Amino acid sequence: MKRAALYLRQSKSSEAGIDRQRERTRQLAEDRGWTVVGEYEDNDVSASKARGAGTAWGRMLADATAGVFDVVVALDLDRLLRTTRDLNVLIDTGAKVITVDGELNLTTADGEFRATMLASIARFEVRRKGERQTRANAQRAAGGGVPKGVRLTGYATDGSVVEDEGRVVRALFEGFAAGDTLRSLSREHDRTPSTVRTILTNPRYAGRRVYKGEVVGTGSWDAIVDGATFDLVQRRLADPRRQTNRTGSTARKALGTSLFRCECGGTVRTAGSGGRYWCPSCGLVRTMAPVDDFVLRVLQRRLQQPDAERPADDAAPLHEEARSLRERRDGLASLLARGLMGLDAVEEQASALTVQIEDVERRIDAAAGPSRVLAESGAADVAGLSLDRQRALIDALLVVTLHRGVRGRRGFDPDTVTLEWR
Ligand SMILES: [Zn+2]
Repeated sequence: MKRAALYLRQSKSSEAGIDRQRERTRQLAEDRGWTVVGEYEDNDVSASKARGAGTAWGRMLADATAGVFDVVVALDLDRLLRTTRDLNVLIDTGAKVITVDGELNLTTADGEFRATMLASIARFEVRRKGERQTRANAQRAAGGGVPKGVRLTGYATDGSVVEDEGRVVRALFEGFAAGDTLRSLSREHDRTPSTVRTILTNPRYAGRRVYKGEVVGTGSWDAIVDGATFDLVQRRLADPRRQTNRTGSTARKALGTSLFRCECGGTVRTAGSGGRYWCPSCGLVRTMAPVDDFVLRVLQRRLQQPDAERPADDAAPLHEEARSLRERRDGLASLLARGLMGLDAVEEQASALTVQIEDVERRIDAAAGPSRVLAESGAADVAGLSLDRQRALIDALLVVTLHRGVRGRRGFDPDTVTLEWR
């Protein structure tokens, strides 16, 4: 005695109503001497919509896998399957399948053979489709066609250059080749350093074809930069000395830029021509070099005092902040994997978080003990620290306020710079 399940589905185009489907499938089960142990009824599930776990089809698959019944009875293939792939899924549960119209009958050896053939063909079709896709992509790369997928900044989807984006890409390559840093370029063009790096390392901008990460030839699209510039940029990116060559960033950011205060209460910036601090609020202008020199000398003296070491507890909230930022960055991968975020958005957010993490780490260094920062950096004195480290130390320890100098007075007057310890 077999246990049968009836699968019924009402579709808008179908004439056979649910009642008639039930009647005829039940009749077949009775004729064979089977016990009907379940009815699975889907209403208004369109042919194109997937039948998920919440549908009767989904519950039936689960019950079939659990061995609740031995055979599925449906009126015809149109009721039972949307695609030949559904047959694979059903066969994989181990249940036998039979239709009233006799088209499908897995309860006999003959019918099973026929169904297995159908299912094999369906599997073959699915695999072939995947292969055709991969081959088409490979041919596109090999033939120099425009790569499919995410649109590349600077190019339209048909491979033509988007002029204003192309200008930015060109400016990034030329700027970096000329000595600009990722940081300064990212500020100038309002992109994250990681986005700038991604652009600078993409051979497609030099008209080079890439397949699976390898340059395989020349593309049919217009190059935005010439090969020599591209190669020079790659060499500069790989140069370890670049990390300490700060010419690009120091040109814009000096020791006190956006850090030193003005006597009016504003914050000073680098004057357009460089070399001087300038207050946008009141117009105060001071020459940088003597001010910076004075601040660094005072800082140096301070760090040599025995109480410069601070208790490590001060850094606890910062460690907590860094940990939570790292968790958020790690979480992005799972959002990407689950399809909740796109690759572009994930990259953008990840690099923004990395910038924040680096900032917190600098503050941790400064809080953990200013003299330790100096000792661990290997620098002989404050002047030997990187600009970022110097700024972080000042930010953590000092409030620097600039005042107007006395007109006509020669030389640097220390009274025109006020230093308050935090
Ligand atoms: Zn001012």
